[in-house]
Amino acid sequence: MHQGKTFIISGPSGVGKSTVLHELFKGRDDLYFSISATTREPREGEEDGVHYHFIDVKHFQELIEADALLEYAEYVGNFYGTPKKYVDKAMNEGKDVILDIEVQGALQVCTKRPETVRIFIAPPSWDELERRLTSRGTDSPDKIQKRLLRAKAELQTADVYDYFVINDSVERAVREINAIMIAEHCKPADRMKILSE
Ligand code: ADP
Ligand code: 5GP
Repeated sequence: MHQGKTFIISGPSGVGKSTVLHELFKGRDDLYFSISATTREPREGEEDGVHYHFIDVKHFQELIEADALLEYAEYVGNFYGTPKKYVDKAMNEGKDVILDIEVQGALQVCTKRPETVRIFIAPPSWDELERRLTSRGTDSPDKIQKRLLRAKAELQTADVYDYFVINDSVERAVREINAIMIAEHCKPADRMKILSE
């Protein structure tokens, strides 16, 4: 049994990460989506334990103190973090793990686990990003402006990523992410391990 790899997917709020990942995961039992803990309120249609573990700030602090999070960050007034044990379990079962996390968290994971592959999803344009955030209808105009500001800051640090995928078409974005994942499994270190066994 070979260890799975971890792939970080980051990108501005509203760029389409959830939409693209939903498509990527169709019919794939070799992939594991890391369900984050967050102190944000659930949006309509979001389920506890499916989209996020929705918890309060006290519980979030307990997770930090217990060193149960691989990384965590504050994002537009709420905390978000990756529970470590499920990530490790899935990797030990040979699954590839997908973390949908923002840039600060991505930097923490890469310091702890430099072998992690970083993919940044970018919008085709700012206007289109604003249109998507608005048309999703889940955030107030004030929150949308905060998310757009944060997106601009994130884009400036995006050169720490290994790959850029522009989400103008969901189908193409999924194809490109799949191609990246396949290519990463063809790296010599991985292949030599298999050959030597
Ligand atoms: P994120 O998870 O990055 O915050 P979502 O997946 O919620 O973003 O997508 C935000 C909005 O943009 C949704 O209404 C979604 O249907 C739409 N969307 C996603 N990808 C595309 C695309 N390639 N073209 C047009 N609209 C898209
Ligand atoms: P949203 O509120 O739109 O679901 O997510 C806001 C931002 O938080 C997105 O950029 C998303 O990638 C990020 N995020 C979600 N879960 C985590 C996590 O566990 N850790 C970090 N650092 N960011 C996360």
